[in-house]
Amino acid sequence: MTFSKVGIVGAGQLGRMLALAGYPLGLHCLFLDRSTDAPGAQVAPILVGDLEDPGKLMELAERSDVVTFDWENISGAALAPLEKAASIRPPRKALEISQDRLLEKALFQSLKIPVAAHAAVDSREDLARAVRRLGSGVLKTRRMGYDGKGQYVLRHADDIDAAWAHIGASGHSGASGLIYEQFQRFSREVSVIGARSAAGEIVYYPLSSNTHSGGILRYSVAPFINRTLERTARRCLKKLMESLGYVGILTIEFFVVKGRLIANEMAPRVHNSGHWTIDGCITSQFENHLRAICGLPLGSTRALGHTAMINFLGKMPQMSRLLAIEGLGFHDYGKEPRPGRKLGHCSIIRAHARDRNQALADALQLVQWS
Ligand code: AMP
Repeated sequence: MTFSKVGIVGAGQLGRMLALAGYPLGLHCLFLDRSTDAPGAQVAPILVGDLEDPGKLMELAERSDVVTFDWENISGAALAPLEKAASIRPPRKALEISQDRLLEKALFQSLKIPVAAHAAVDSREDLARAVRRLGSGVLKTRRMGYDGKGQYVLRHADDIDAAWAHIGASGHSGASGLIYEQFQRFSREVSVIGARSAAGEIVYYPLSSNTHSGGILRYSVAPFINRTLERTARRCLKKLMESLGYVGILTIEFFVVKGRLIANEMAPRVHNSGHWTIDGCITSQFENHLRAICGLPLGSTRALGHTAMINFLGKMPQMSRLLAIEGLGFHDYGKEPRPGRKLGHCSIIRAHARDRNQALADALQLVQWS
């Protein structure tokens, strides 16, 4: 069965890029979001309401063939009733597990996907015990953390009080607690992105190498060519997709530690480290997500060259200076500038990896100076 009406929960930049990818396929997207100013609302109709409002969610499902997500933190309880009205893709279980870092790590471990040593933390005593056992590490909220929010890096045992004051005692954790992860001295961070159809066909994008600062993705370069790591990453993604009966795009972010992959987290949706695929691959992650959830054949994930993707954080650079760079794709999400906010990105494509690295350095300078 193929679908053409797509309901999208959340109208952020991910939703906006999904809707844009849907136009050439003749798909019709409808958003649910709190605000008519949301980036997606500029390109497709929007139902205005809270993302967990049962009535609005049901209206979205009834007006759609399939419901998918820009924002994956919607509760399983809010989603369950919608399954009577529309297909929910990716499946509810994938969202529920990805919402809790502890459940996510337990699933990874059950599938023999390596993760950092970690401990659940619900009190200051738990934290002190975890630090004694694991050494330096990162204290994170189990739920609702993104872009480095709700995290505290503990380098020394005497950071415990500061970490607890910052996260534990401040109510960040809510009822669902914290997790302490051993600090990973990684040589780089990579992510693997793939799409799975309802029939079980899987396509994988080339690995991308991702550079974060302050927990936020700054830039990605792809393909990151390392056949051994790529084979392992794809095996992990396949196991995860099959265990969840997954349909759509799924991402796993990894640390590379001493040449081995350690899974950090998964994202049950299109992912910032895959934005390079819009300009850099035959079929983008956004189009392949739509193809997968609508029951259409999946598209080629072949890279067209060597791509660097740079996020615009906090302010947009001068477009005219960047557009003068050969082989550059420019993406403005139409958002109000705010410090640290993801406002857009650009991708630069080159025939050779060495030229891409030079272009990346040049563009990073332009972004910083403009
Ligand atoms: P996350 O919200 O888990 O994706 O973390 C955001 C970023 O913080 C990661 O991409 C890493 O750069 C850094 N980070 C998170 N967890 C760890 C860890 N256990 N060890 C070292 N760095 C980490």
